[in-house]
Amino acid sequence: MKQQSILISGAGIAGPALAYWLVKDGHTVTLVERTPEFRAGGYVIDFWGLGYELVEKMGLLPEVIKAGYEVKELRLVNKQGRKIAGLNADVFRTATFGRYTSLPRGDLARVIYTAVAPKIETRFGDSIKTISEDTDGVAVTFEHGAPQRFDMVIGADGLHSKVRELMFGPESDFEKFLGYTVAAFDTDGYEPRTEDTYVSYGVPGKQAARFAMRDNRTTFLFVLAGEDGRDIDPHDTDAHKAFMHKAFGSLGWECPQILEAMDRVPELYFDRVSQIRMPTWHTNRTALVGDAGYCPSLLAGQGSALAIIGGYVLAGEIARASTPSEAFARYEEILHSFMLHKQVAAEGFAPSFAPKTAFGLFFRNISTRLLNIPFFAKQALGSSLLDKIKLPEYTFGENETPETENI
Ligand SMILES: Cc1cc2nc3c(=O)[nH]c(=O)nc-3n(C[C@H](O)[C@H](O)[C@H](O)COP(=O)(O)OP(=O)(O)OC[C@H]3O[C@@H](n4cnc5c(N)ncnc54)[C@H](O)[C@@H]3O)c2cc1C
Repeated sequence: MKQQSILISGAGIAGPALAYWLVKDGHTVTLVERTPEFRAGGYVIDFWGLGYELVEKMGLLPEVIKAGYEVKELRLVNKQGRKIAGLNADVFRTATFGRYTSLPRGDLARVIYTAVAPKIETRFGDSIKTISEDTDGVAVTFEHGAPQRFDMVIGADGLHSKVRELMFGPESDFEKFLGYTVAAFDTDGYEPRTEDTYVSYGVPGKQAARFAMRDNRTTFLFVLAGEDGRDIDPHDTDAHKAFMHKAFGSLGWECPQILEAMDRVPELYFDRVSQIRMPTWHTNRTALVGDAGYCPSLLAGQGSALAIIGGYVLAGEIARASTPSEAFARYEEILHSFMLHKQVAAEGFAPSFAPKTAFGLFFRNISTRLLNIPFFAKQALGSSLLDKIKLPEYTFGENETPETENI
């Protein structure tokens, strides 16, 4: 497609990944991000698969690996902190042929954003207010900035996407709540530290975990089954902290001490665990990418990689097509069933993530032990960690139709 002016909402992972390829194809990209500045750090994610391959294709793998951690063990502990089961993380590395790392979500976003930032315009601290499409383009108004026209608008603004709400309808029309609430934060100087080990404590329906990072930082993750946290505003920090004290205050292990550390941080990540399932991700001149269109939830352990895959295919189809709607339709055709498949698989994984019953917890602990035995690991993980799709090989910046091949 000839040079287009493209507005992307959201400087998370999908937005910068998409911008990276669009700029390569010669388009003019404006990125609008709600937060006042770029957010690095945050909860730790596992990263592998085709998203990992694409980051390598972008030439960014060395920086991603540098920001990452080689987790050695997943350790399940009891109330007294004694190990009751453990999993050697080599199981995952073997299943992914060593192409696997764990890193803070915001650091993955930062590596991609830094690579493209000098070539685009970024507006921090603003958000799209209205979008109005016509035959020639899209008229956009902002919360703060002046109105402007673009050739297309892409919503890469996450689970609670504003672009989705404006163009496709309320979140409730597309949200599939998976029955859990998640909270995460990180802090300095927490003791004890257990290097390279993900330490996790659970009772039926509740899970708390910590992971020691560089510079004396520790990140914490909590998962809670049930409806209780569902309606709490994801931006109300006081409500989050009060809820966490009520839910985890008397749970044992290090929970009281972790909650004390939580009280000292200015805010935490707090949200319901949901997926976004949509029949279509596009209109004529607006499309969604990443969590905004097909959030698989943290249970997939792959949302970041899927956001990167989405950005690559969307940019590639924009490069190939002659109109935005043609590009969007192809993008959806290539990825829709793949994303749905990932979502269904993630939903199936939910019961073992934070088991709701004592039996479920017992079963999860046994399974964790069994995964250390290569035969069981192969049966359980097998090829389930691999992405069963061949991505097209795009040529950016040229008007030719290249062959489809495996990357
Ligand atoms: C606790 C937890 C653990 C996870 N673990 C993993 C894992 O192990 N592996 C993995 O691959 N994935 C994991 N994920 C999922 C992963 O984080 C997401 O799938 C991924 O971040 C999606 O990228 P995105 O760019 O689509 O959305 P996001 O990363 O959410 O980025 C959206 C961006 O849009 C901005 N934004 C929001 N609203 C607006 C607005 N109105 N205007 C402008 N900007 C806006 C946000 O500030 C943000 O910068 C996990 C998620 C959670 C919550």
